Amino acid sequence: MWRDLAGIGRHPSSGGYRRFAWTAADTDCRAWFEEQARARGLAYEVDRNGNQWAWLGDPAAGDAVVTGSHLDSVPDGGAFDGPLGVVSAFAAVDELRARGADPNKPLAVVNFGDEEGARFGLACVGSRLTAGQLDVERARELRDADGVSLPQAMERAGRDPEAIGPDPERLARVGAFVELHVEQGRALDLGGHPVGAASAIWPHGRWRFDFRGEANHAGTTRLEDRRDPMLTYATTVLAARKKARLAGALATFGKVAVEPGGVNAIASLVRGWLDSRAADEQTLAEVVTAIEQTARERGQRDGVTVDVVRESFTPVVEFAHELRDTVAALAGRGRPVPVLPTGAGHDAGILSARVPTAMLFVRNPTGVSHAPAEHAAEDDCAAGVTALADVLEGLACR
Ligand SMILES: [Zn+2]
Repeated sequence: MWRDLAGIGRHPSSGGYRRFAWTAADTDCRAWFEEQARARGLAYEVDRNGNQWAWLGDPAAGDAVVTGSHLDSVPDGGAFDGPLGVVSAFAAVDELRARGADPNKPLAVVNFGDEEGARFGLACVGSRLTAGQLDVERARELRDADGVSLPQAMERAGRDPEAIGPDPERLARVGAFVELHVEQGRALDLGGHPVGAASAIWPHGRWRFDFRGEANHAGTTRLEDRRDPMLTYATTVLAARKKARLAGALATFGKVAVEPGGVNAIASLVRGWLDSRAADEQTLAEVVTAIEQTARERGQRDGVTVDVVRESFTPVVEFAHELRDTVAALAGRGRPVPVLPTGAGHDAGILSARVPTAMLFVRNPTGVSHAPAEHAAEDDCAAGVTALADVLEGLACR
């Protein structure tokens, strides 16, 4: 499975993956998913929001145990974030069959579309739509950097954008969702564990900062006559780091757009995107408010206006305690695997508002994620498959 996926959407110079929603690379990943489903004789379907499902057993029976993740990537992402959960899900189905396990509940493997939000700026669009956590009209308004709307992109990829929306009937059939994911930090590595389970997902959000000044000549405009938004932006980036550090939170400006973008021109507009996360919602709100305040104060000095728009927000997710404990025990065959929180958002976090949800993490020795250095050793991936198969067997086969 890894061999088939390895070349899809891989950028030759960076070595990272560019599998953005509804692009050619995404279509290739989806074709791969369908092939894997059909090769195993699983019933294949695509839901109204473009998420792919592969069923073992009759979905209508209800109380299904579902596992999977996503196949899209961030710009120049690693190989494992997302695909590890889907590959492991298919491999766990193989493992269950090899064991002769006899499921008494339907099992499904799922690929949620557009998890990373790299193209349209909003994460987990597939699972949010299905769970009724994204307004359909808002989804229709989402546009990529070239002005292509989500409905246009879906249509070009052969989907019917008119169909998108909440899917309560489908979710009502799901009794539990377990997402396996590469760890996006080093907690398992530092503790010497190949596999862990998730306790919670930190609340997190994305804010767009628009710094507006005045474009002018870099060679003829006196420093004191300038209204340079780059200065305000730079101060805000530094403030974000400091406020986050003091609060034990995280704050990152990882994307910036500059107009007009000339080397010899003072910028008229700097648009920066803040990603911030914290252990609790109050801390997160305080950090973002403090960053905003610094931006406005500095903007006044620079003659720059500052507008801040919250583009997305995901509240804290506490995974269902009973399922979490069951999954941790099953994955460790009686000696529960470690249970840890994460600062990364996942489809599992979105679905947890609707169905009991749990996560498994596989050790990532580099701790790096959303970059080509993201890694999981083959032995650890195999341990993840065994743990996932144990979990599925425990949840669906007795
Ligand atoms: Zn992911």
